[in-house]
Amino acid sequence: MEKEKFPLKCCPLCGCEAEFMFDEDSKLPYTYIVCTDCGLQSPIFQADVDTCAMQEAAGFWNRRFYESEEK
Ligand SMILES: [Zn+2]
Repeated sequence: MEKEKFPLKCCPLCGCEAEFMFDEDSKLPYTYIVCTDCGLQSPIFQADVDTCAMQEAAGFWNRRFYESEEK
């Protein structure tokens, strides 16, 4: 996976690495982000023709959990 295109900030709860999860078998492919340690999870973002689900999910993850810390 092209993880580098959408860098994720570390988990706000435990500081561990977060990564994209995928379900490519379902009829509607989707992605979400989960912490590799504590299991903190983002909502599911579905892929469609107009939006990149990975970009949406990464934006959500990075914004939501750090919005109070932005400079
Ligand atoms: Zn965590």
